[in-house]
Amino acid sequence: MEKVDITIIGAGVIGLSIAAEMARPDLNVFILEKNPTYGGGISSRNSEVIHSGIYYPDGSYKASLCVAGNKMLYDIASANKIPHKRTGKLIVAIKDEEMEELERLYANGRKNGVTSISMISKKQIARMEPNVRARAALSLSDTGIISVHDLMNYFLAGAQSRKAHIVYQTKVVRIEKESDRYRIFTRNEKGENFEFSSAIVINAAGLESDTIANMIGTNYHLHYCKGDYCSVSRVKPGMVQRLIYPVPPNNHVGLGVHLTLDLNGRFKLGPDTTYIDRREDYRVAEEKADLFYQSAVKFLPFIKADKVHPDMSGIRPKLQGPDEDFRDFVIKEDSSGFINLVGIESPGMTASPAIAQFVKAMLF
Ligand SMILES: Cc1cc2nc3c(=O)[nH]c(=O)nc-3n(C[C@H](O)[C@H](O)[C@H](O)COP(=O)(O)OP(=O)(O)OC[C@H]3O[C@@H](n4cnc5c(N)ncnc54)[C@H](O)[C@@H]3O)c2cc1C
Repeated sequence: MEKVDITIIGAGVIGLSIAAEMARPDLNVFILEKNPTYGGGISSRNSEVIHSGIYYPDGSYKASLCVAGNKMLYDIASANKIPHKRTGKLIVAIKDEEMEELERLYANGRKNGVTSISMISKKQIARMEPNVRARAALSLSDTGIISVHDLMNYFLAGAQSRKAHIVYQTKVVRIEKESDRYRIFTRNEKGENFEFSSAIVINAAGLESDTIANMIGTNYHLHYCKGDYCSVSRVKPGMVQRLIYPVPPNNHVGLGVHLTLDLNGRFKLGPDTTYIDRREDYRVAEEKADLFYQSAVKFLPFIKADKVHPDMSGIRPKLQGPDEDFRDFVIKEDSSGFINLVGIESPGMTASPAIAQFVKAMLF
């Protein structure tokens, strides 16, 4: 039977960043992807925001790996001409009752090591973003946007230049532990089966990462939490420079319907949060346009109802179920040489280079 050194399951931003970090010409590294190309899962259906790391509890992986990943991503993007922009971001309070949560977020951000954060007044908001209505805001100058496709392309090219192999249309269907290695059973798009053995396995299978982990006897359960987006058409360029977020509900499910810009300056509202059954249904209901308009017009008064249209959606792989408390990323060696990455929802893209370094340090 064929033997390899390292198998990475899943070619999203997490699997690819780990492949780039681990690949070495003297190691046999394989990335297995069930789809015909890389990045077709969660990684191509997100907001592409380089987060600062203020939302997550102090000491969590989400906080520490996001803060580290933020700096690493800007360095990687600048050094390798990956399209990105340090736009900055405002979290705006509209009502007096929201001030307490804004202050809690400020303190949490400082605890997490976010230094590019300041509380700003109504007057300062009017100067920075004259078309935004708010009574106060948190300003985060290290938040930005990046082309996640170009980022994945960069990780994959780096891995391949150090002799890693990527195999598409190959689904992992079973894994068995045998002494100090793992036997991996796969099926390709023609229904053909192939098995091989790997010394190290890294499970970065996104929405299926619990299923893969449970093949070696763990008991993870992911909830699917859908995030819909709406586009906003015919907004004059430059109406808003920064990403504008409301004060989020204090339940760690989502960040509230917010305004993001893409690298072409187009406006997008969302994502919202809806727990769904376990299937990949990416349709966006017509009525979301009006719901998003009603949420956003409170702080973006220039938006017109008839210019908001249903757009794309993504699905979060959440360990946290409805009405449950915060759950951190799982990055764990559950069996010797078998690392599971489960529940890698936001800020996973931002954290991706820091996660890759962390995983490498667990193994070498
Ligand atoms: C709506 C939304 C908005 C987000 N916004 C942001 C943001 O602005 N900033 C940020 O930092 N993060 C954001 N995130 C989080 C970020 O997108 C994810 O953390 C990240 O993309 C996860 O990448 P991944 O590689 O783990 O998963 P994926 O990209 O899904 O990759 C996993 C891969 O594994 C493959 N796979 C699955 N099962 C198997 C199998 N059995 N065999 C072989 N291959 C398999 C899949 O086909 C897939 O390609 C957002 C997420 C969502 C859903």
